[in-house]
Parts: sequence; C-alpha cells; structure tokens
Amino acid sequence: MNQRIRISQPAIGEAEEQAVLQVLRSGHLAQGPAVRRFEALCAAMAGTRHAVAVSNGTVALEAALRVCDLTPGDEVITSAFTFAATLNAILHSGAVARFADIGDDFNVDPGCVEDLIGPRTKVLMPVHLYGLMADMTRIEAIAQSHGVRIVEDAAQAHGAAQDGRAAGSFGLGCFSFYATKNVTSGEGGCITCDDEEVADELRIIRNQGMRERYQYERIGDNWRMTDVAAAIAVPQLERIDTIVAARNANAALLHQHLVGSPLVLPITPQGRTHVWHQYTVLLPDGADREGVRRALDADGIDCGVYYPSLVWDHAAYRDHPNVRRDATPRAAAAARRCLSLPVHPGLTPGHLERVAVSVRRAVA
Ligand SMILES: *Cc1c(COP(=O)(O)O)cnc(C)c1O
Repeated sequence: MNQRIRISQPAIGEAEEQAVLQVLRSGHLAQGPAVRRFEALCAAMAGTRHAVAVSNGTVALEAALRVCDLTPGDEVITSAFTFAATLNAILHSGAVARFADIGDDFNVDPGCVEDLIGPRTKVLMPVHLYGLMADMTRIEAIAQSHGVRIVEDAAQAHGAAQDGRAAGSFGLGCFSFYATKNVTSGEGGCITCDDEEVADELRIIRNQGMRERYQYERIGDNWRMTDVAAAIAVPQLERIDTIVAARNANAALLHQHLVGSPLVLPITPQGRTHVWHQYTVLLPDGADREGVRRALDADGIDCGVYYPSLVWDHAAYRDHPNVRRDATPRAAAAARRCLSLPVHPGLTPGHLERVAVSVRRAVA
C-alpha cells in the first residue's frame, strides 16, 4: 500500500530532539539562551540587525502594529487573499482594514495598493503568500513616497528574497513558526527590524510592558517564547538553506510533471526567490474543486485550499465597522480556483510523480 502524502510534515530529527532535551535538562524552560540563539538566527535569515521572538505569528503582527501607534480611523492596507490572522491583527489594533487586489503572483498588486492610499493610510501590510514575496521593491517605493510604514506578513516566507533582500527586511517583518510553516517551533513567531528603538519597544511589549523587573513602562502582554519552543526551531534555522533547496527542487520537479496540463502553474517573477511554502495552482475556471480533492484523496494524497474565500468574507468580519469591503475580483477568482499540492522536503521524486499523475487525471 502506498504511503499517504501529506500537504505538510515537520522536518524534525535527531538535532531537534537533542536541542530540546538539552533545554529540558538545563532547568531553564522559559525565555532564555535558546530564545537568544533563535533570535540571532532569525535576524541572520532576514538580514536585519534585530529579531524579537514572540509566542506566535499572530502576536508578531499585533506587536508590529502596536509600535506603529495607530489611532482610531487610521487605515492599514493588506491583501484580500490571506489568512484570518492578518485581518485579526489589524482589527485588534483598532485600525480600519482595506484590501488590495492581487496579481498573478497571488500577492498584492502594488498598483491596487497605491489606489487605496488616502489621508488615513498609516501602514501597508503585504503578505508574502505561499513563500513568494510581494513586489517589495515597488511597495517600498510607494510607502516612502506616501510616508507610510510597512509591516510584512512573512509568516510563510522564511528565507524568501527579492533582488538579494530578504523577506522581513523591508519593514517590520513578521514570521510564524507554527507547525505547518517551513521552519517550526510548534507555535512561535518573531519580528525582524533594523531600528534599535523599535526592537526595544517590541521586547517591552512582549514582556508585560517592563524593561527592569517590576518597572512597567507601558501596557504590555505576555507574548514570550519558551526556550523549549526555540530549541525546536534552532537546528532548522541553522540548515534553512537546505530546507529551502529541498522545497525548490520538489516544486521544480512537480512543475515539470504538470507543464502542458490545463492547470495555471505558479510563477516566480524575475528577481524573486520562492521558498515554496505552498505550490499552488489554479484549476480551470468552473472546475469542480471538491471533485478534484476527492480524487486526490482516493489516491492517498492530501491537498489544500488556501484560502477558499476572501479574508473578510466571513460572518465575524462582513459587517464589522472597521472592515472595508473593497472590490477585489482577481482575489475572488483565486479563492474559487486555487489548490495547493504537496512539495514539502519529506517527499521523494516518486511521491511527486504520484501527485502529478493523480492531479492530471483528476482535471482531465
Ligand atoms: C500562519 C500565518 C499567520 C499566523 O501565524 P500563527 O503562528 O499561526 O499565529 C499569519 N499570516 C499568515 C499569512 C499565515 O500563514
């Protein structure tokens, strides 16, 4: 019987086990030396001077928005095609969420972002979906010309780059280390930045608002990461190039197998390096996605739909006073037609051929 092919699978081995055991035996379980090592590796990954570890990617976004000092009525522009965490963080900040449409790269179209900018715009919050950076060269230029800040939702983009600059280095970079991400600590997050004062503020926010013990400088939170969690991610961060290379090779092989099929295959625009958190295709317009999923499932293959609807198109958000239902027809089409296929590093060429054969048959 063929082994089931999962959509994701954490790459945990001997090195991670040893690192966690060392923390457990050290007696220091909360934030300590392993978190500091984790932060140094995150800063190296993003090419920034600082990285601040937090307990998950959602609070990384919340903390980043908090240092942007938003006031009610301020607007944050993000992608209509993203995970709920992006929108939750914006709404928790008290800001109004605006939604830009996407381009062929599944990321915000910089032209659409610029069209939404108005006097209340304070932050551009692009999402580097599926491991491909948004066009940050253009987005950075737009942010600079309008005097607004950038918060990158880089939860899916560990090690991605554009023209040699890494995800997380264009603004406040927010990463997730959730179990399905390219690098994981089970649950975890970090914010990368160059500015020492901003990093300092973030460290205070995550630690109950205190710098010195029992001296509270602002209203904070407990958003600390544990050393146990950091220890899981450290060995993966040390070999992130290998992890990215494996995903790249798997995506390239799957791509070869799918050329000539009726699927719209993912693109990597000139100058950008993809880290293939997901390999996402568009099914032909009008195709029965549930039928394709069932066919793959019958062949022992998991696939994913990220995401089946626009981020705000749920009961919790639809009539929220801070949600602007901007028209985003391309994002809506992607939500109807997208399908993510497995390319995680645990797969062999044989697995990838099975995926390709199965999906080609399902859409034929
Ligand atoms: C995973 C993810 C998050 C949230 O990260 P958590 O660690 O799960 O809180 C935010 N944005 C995007 C795009 C994500 O994929």
